Amino acid sequence: MLELTRRRELIDTALAMNSLGLNQGCSGNLSLRSGDRILITPSALAYDRCRPQDIVKMDLDGSCRGSGKPSSEWPLHLDIYRTRPEAGAILHAHSPFCTTLACMELAIPPFHYMVAVAGGSTIRCADYALYGSRELSVAVQTALQDRSACLMAHHGMVCFGPTLDQALDLAVEVENLARLYVQALQLGTPNLLTDAQMDAVLEKFSDYRGQAG
Ligand code: 13P
Ligand code: ZN
Repeated sequence: MLELTRRRELIDTALAMNSLGLNQGCSGNLSLRSGDRILITPSALAYDRCRPQDIVKMDLDGSCRGSGKPSSEWPLHLDIYRTRPEAGAILHAHSPFCTTLACMELAIPPFHYMVAVAGGSTIRCADYALYGSRELSVAVQTALQDRSACLMAHHGMVCFGPTLDQALDLAVEVENLARLYVQALQLGTPNLLTDAQMDAVLEKFSDYRGQAG
């Protein structure tokens, strides 16, 4: 696919993050894998002002192609691409309900079967570290073990998928689960599904995804 098309897709998905209520202003960032390089949103530029030429191209070793300044979270994005071959696109957002839980350093436990959408029985919360730091990237890689989404303490959330659309869909789902969990906590302490119940969901999900091709 033409690189210009991919740059436009990245901007369209970033704008969709805003219109879906996942993000606002300059917070959050988005990238996609393009062969052995990545395309990533620029740092500190609101998506509605972002043009295709503002998208930054980087090598997987961290060197930049061109003069633009990549998102400050580029170490985190590159580390996911290097360690997770299934990642084709990565989304980071300060979405309101994920961030609410993350500010309380809370993971999302198996209070609803859809928690399995991120690959396991919980959606973990990565330890706090300074934004854009290597330390934050290490904390996120740990929280993402066997998962495709995690919260980031006192910061937000990150998720990845094979495509931009799938990463965006997952972010919407995780944000919805975070909202439901925050709501449930207001009524009391929800009972949690057991490991066996969550294993059954995970097994059924592999069939479900298989059917969709
Ligand atoms: P950037 O504008 O550099 O992508 O930073 C936004 C952000 O969310 C940092 O965590
Ligand atoms: Zn952030």
